Amino acid sequence: MEEILINEIASTSKQEHEFYDSMPAGYRTGKSKYVIIYGTVMSGLGKGIFAASMAKLFQLKGLNVNIMKFDGYLNVDAGTLNPYRHGEVFVLDDGTESDMDLGTYERFLGINMTKNNYLTGGKIFHQILNSERKGDFLGKDVQFIPHVTGEIKKFVRNLAMSSNADVVFVEVGGTIGDIENNYFIKAMQELQYEEGKENVCIVALTYVLEPAFLGEQKSKAAQLGIRMAMAEGLNPDIIACRCQNKVTEKVREKISISANVPIQRVISIHDCESIYLIPDLLLSEKLDEQAIDLLGLRSRIKEDYHAITKWKEFVDKINNSEKEIIIGITGKYTSLRDSYASIVKAVEHAATSFGIKAKLRWIDTSELDENSIENELSRVHGIIVPGGFGSRGSEGKILCIKYARENNLPYLGLCYGFQMALVEYARNVLNLEDSYSTEIKSSCKNPVIDILPEQKRIQNLGATMRLGGHDVEIKPGTYAAELYGTDIARERFRHRWECNPIYIEMFEQSGIVFSGKAPNQNIMQILELPKREHPFFIGTQYHGEYISRPLKPHPLYLGFIKAISELEEKKIIIE
Ligand code: GLN
Repeated sequence: MEEILINEIASTSKQEHEFYDSMPAGYRTGKSKYVIIYGTVMSGLGKGIFAASMAKLFQLKGLNVNIMKFDGYLNVDAGTLNPYRHGEVFVLDDGTESDMDLGTYERFLGINMTKNNYLTGGKIFHQILNSERKGDFLGKDVQFIPHVTGEIKKFVRNLAMSSNADVVFVEVGGTIGDIENNYFIKAMQELQYEEGKENVCIVALTYVLEPAFLGEQKSKAAQLGIRMAMAEGLNPDIIACRCQNKVTEKVREKISISANVPIQRVISIHDCESIYLIPDLLLSEKLDEQAIDLLGLRSRIKEDYHAITKWKEFVDKINNSEKEIIIGITGKYTSLRDSYASIVKAVEHAATSFGIKAKLRWIDTSELDENSIENELSRVHGIIVPGGFGSRGSEGKILCIKYARENNLPYLGLCYGFQMALVEYARNVLNLEDSYSTEIKSSCKNPVIDILPEQKRIQNLGATMRLGGHDVEIKPGTYAAELYGTDIARERFRHRWECNPIYIEMFEQSGIVFSGKAPNQNIMQILELPKREHPFFIGTQYHGEYISRPLKPHPLYLGFIKAISELEEKKIIIE
């Protein structure tokens, strides 16, 4: 009896193997191809912009592309990250609080991202530890290889399958050598092996140094970084070199020889005036053609001439925009424009569509007072008060809004900017003493902005705000209705506070028009001053910038820029 048991154990242990099934049911190798993009030398090179630009070129060739990002940090999502440290939190329609690169993907490709396009270290471990507790790995020690890498590959393949993609672009966040992204790198090496070399194209984005004290470009850091990736089994097929100026032939030769990559696939990505000019830069290096041949995709190409023409028209407009306007943006993260990436882009999209170049002026409101306000705001054509949390700079923002309201300066308030506009109005028009938001002063006498009832019960901070896409019911006959041209709009939210319903009637009786609200709920979502009273004074509880696209600018941003331009006495027409 004992002998039989021992034999049984011996035979099961013989069957044990190191493979972990990371193929979703029905998956077919070769149907979807992959482009893996990683970074060397340093982070912040614009891997997201590069990945999206390359994907755009594939899309213009009629290929069905999808794109995703790995982020190594242990946060489950980006919701609790400080935008000052990490760039803006980009909110997806499904409510995922994601990395700003997903915003870049949406803008370039015009497709909505979901939670399936974004994977953090925290999310993968959360998932694996939950499975372990359920007993899914019974009897096994749960390991980085094969379990963590296996789950990562499964995530990537699931995206490929669910989106029926010809090509999935995978951006690995961080830099080669980071401890927190090495299991993603390992997973990509395995993916390449399992899918076959002909189905995976590896792109290294690197940095060519050009120190001012030398006045010449240096390639060693790039070479070493790529060599490190090669040691991890990720030999690049394409090397994209970020640099301030065009990378010289000599430097490209050095990198080419050191990494075994033909020189025509070592390309220069030097600084451009707009990120939307990067696809053209890649096109001039024939990057799309080269990658398509590497992946054997030529037979699937069906050039999308309509989309190519539309994109070209947009790029031409960027190159030919002449008239300049200056938009002031207030906020405490003013030293880092990444914190407001979507707003910067939404302004660019709207301005470009009118052939206007919008320059931005960052205004740190924590330093503003009654005396300095005139000096600051007389230098801008319009002002945006963006989203924000907490109290820092709030009084300065309120001063800006008062100035904009009283001086016919076009004003666009976004979420916090909507809330502060109501505080300002309550204080200075309704004369309600000690009006505030309870986020800033919980004991204020007139809490015109108060926490949403459903938020009162919530303890945790991660993924608990009112998040993601919700409908906005637009009131006919209003400025907002004129700009939207529809009765219902879908917009993205990220907030805990709202206009306190007790004050709605008082606001309405004294001139504020709530031109957008939540259907079936008493949540005010757009406020405006009638057009006859102010050229543009609109605030939204949502963030229109999240859905603005280069070829489809947001209606309220269009209205804002148009109003500014009309004040500048140049009439332009919204298409
Ligand atoms: N702090 C405010 C709220 O939670 C505004 C949020 C925002 O601007 N996104 O309601």
